Amino acid sequence: MSAILTLNAGSSSIKFSVYLNSDQVSSGDPVGVAVGQIDGLGPDATLILKHDGRTSETQLGQADHTSGLRAILEAIRPVIGTQTVVGVGHRIVHGGVAQEEPVRLDAALLEELAKLEPLAPLHQPHNLAGIRAAMEAFPDAIQVGCFDTAFHRAHPFVNDTYALPRQYFEEGVRRYGFHGLSYDYVSGHVANTYADLADARMVIAHLGNGASMCCVRGRRSIASSMGFSAVDGLPMGTRTGQLDPSVILYLMDQHGMSTKDISDLIYKKSGLLGMSGISNDMRTLLEGDAADTESAREAVAYFVARVKHEIGALAALGGGIDALVFTGGIGENAWQIREQVCEDLGFLGISLDIEANRRRGTEDIGTGPVKVLVIRTDEERVIARAVSAELRGGAQSDRAAE
Ligand code: AMP
Repeated sequence: MSAILTLNAGSSSIKFSVYLNSDQVSSGDPVGVAVGQIDGLGPDATLILKHDGRTSETQLGQADHTSGLRAILEAIRPVIGTQTVVGVGHRIVHGGVAQEEPVRLDAALLEELAKLEPLAPLHQPHNLAGIRAAMEAFPDAIQVGCFDTAFHRAHPFVNDTYALPRQYFEEGVRRYGFHGLSYDYVSGHVANTYADLADARMVIAHLGNGASMCCVRGRRSIASSMGFSAVDGLPMGTRTGQLDPSVILYLMDQHGMSTKDISDLIYKKSGLLGMSGISNDMRTLLEGDAADTESAREAVAYFVARVKHEIGALAALGGGIDALVFTGGIGENAWQIREQVCEDLGFLGISLDIEANRRRGTEDIGTGPVKVLVIRTDEERVIARAVSAELRGGAQSDRAAE
């Protein structure tokens, strides 16, 4: 046995999971043994570790990615015992056009990935800082990159482009799509659990604080509601989703807004938060006092309408739909949203078993010809599998494994 660490490094946090991995050539899935995160990177960082049903919290004080990783190494020592960390898997938001699969990371590839920073300025630099820190903290481990864009790279041209002059497409202005690790996990789980859905046309709704939808056919994404950046498509906790570009021109001309003002507006002040004026949190808008306010009801109604819009669009692009799958914090937990989304979709073959939908933990909630499923996503597992496959010499890709 040996240990695998998965990392998701952001600007102010590092999320991690620890897996034990059999060293046998044809082993099963890595086994998750702990999860945790460092919050508040900077002057006042805290490390939280969940292991064996217990949660511990350690104040780190001043910490950056490098010292944070050393603290993680210390914290997980009692968890992994005599095992050594032989592989570290990294969630990387952007792999550009080139990355279609998980890949072994080295200095040359890091340089290539740094060139993509302008495409994802809020995430990519921090993802890469996490990788550099992990290379330092775990010099003997292999480092594997898993990209949120990779699952979507097989999109046909029409679902990969904008109607701009061709030069922009060539320089990388494309519909990349994100949440690929979640779609990879969920579509694999469905294909393996339901024999008749092995090659199904699925529309998957990853509805969380970040939200997108994806059409999967034959285990590959063919279209996504997210495009060039993670702000397109559905409204989210604080992001607008789809927006007529002329609105931005209007705001610049009439309100004198700068790119920074607009970035703050469309990423941080809009979506459920901006529309409701109450909260970015769906649960808050559905439950308690907020649920009685008109602005909360309207924000939720707009969210639902946009999900319906994407179901129709993605089902058409897929040439039909065999399964509608809900995942992410909202998709997995908010029965009210699933109920409202599926209302009046009988014409597509989608209808809900109202009771099953309200029963927590039920996976199969449909009654019509289209399977309607609720699947708990597990992006870390996809990363751990990729590392495990790489350790076995790339014998089995994570996609094949699920
Ligand atoms: P995620 O980003 O995937 O962790 O999802 C976060 C979102 O899921 C937030 O908007 C939460 O309010 C929402 N969520 C989590 N649990 C529930 C619940 N029981 N009912 C409604 N929304 C929920």
